[in-house]
Amino acid sequence: MSDFRADLHCHSLFSDGTDSPAELIERAIESNLSGLSITDHDTIACYEEAFNYAKSKNFALLNGVEFSASYRNEPVHILGYAFDLKSEAIASLCLRHKERRVERNCRILENLKKMGIEISLEEIQSQSSRGSCGRPHIALALLKKGIVSSIQEAFERLLGEGKPGYDPGQPISVDETIAIIKQGRGKAVLAHPHLIKRSTTVRAMLQMPFDGIECYYARFTAGQEKKWIDLATQRKWIVTGGSDYHGANKPYSVLGSSWVGRETFELLYSHFKDSNSQF
Ligand code: AMP
Ligand code: ZN
Ligand code: FE
Ligand code: FE
Repeated sequence: MSDFRADLHCHSLFSDGTDSPAELIERAIESNLSGLSITDHDTIACYEEAFNYAKSKNFALLNGVEFSASYRNEPVHILGYAFDLKSEAIASLCLRHKERRVERNCRILENLKKMGIEISLEEIQSQSSRGSCGRPHIALALLKKGIVSSIQEAFERLLGEGKPGYDPGQPISVDETIAIIKQGRGKAVLAHPHLIKRSTTVRAMLQMPFDGIECYYARFTAGQEKKWIDLATQRKWIVTGGSDYHGANKPYSVLGSSWVGRETFELLYSHFKDSNSQF
């Protein structure tokens, strides 16, 4: 049926979203989505709770994650789908990211301190209820203290790339991230490629062993979509899409505003079942 829609990119409160996994699934059902993947930053901790809830609602949930990677000092986000939930390789990458984030957050807080802005690690951790803690939580702490008047302002003035509070953290390469997703029997997808600033990085990404590109993304124009769809098709890569919904932390992005159809979802969903014999 043509009304099948699955959103393959959103965040829960296990990273920097504001909805619980159950709330995301409820919202997906209310939005008439037939499938969903929750892609938290650098963690798969949502999945125990998320699969229990999805099962109780007979809802098609696909496992996913959004890894922060780096290519020659430029950040690149890589989505992983349909991996083995028990993969040690994936678990150990998530753990490395957890440690990387603590160290990076400390450095960002030191940068802010040099500017006379005092925020403690505890203050930012209290903004992240369950998992991956990062710049959005620092932005929330700055907002709470009245140092900025919006999350956007926090990124524009202090936390965005190149701004005085910014720190990239220990880089984990694109090659290694793709290799680990594949070791975990997952599919590696280049996330929101239009957000990559350097054209040399984009060209390098198109030579990497990805399985797909996120071609449907919130606020893409039809012209932008076509460019990436053509590039994916030439490479026989999967064309994926999703809203990058974050709940109240990014109110302009709406769950289900970008999506894939039945064929793509079923391709990934059957791979997920192959990788996870318990489902
Ligand atoms: P981190 O993973 O700590 O580097 O934080 C990156 C996340 O911050 C992104 O995935 C977005 O959710 C959020 N973010 C990045 N830039 C902005 C911005 N200008 N305004 C609001 N949120 C942003
Ligand atoms: Zn995010
Ligand atoms: Fe991203
Ligand atoms: Fe995202």
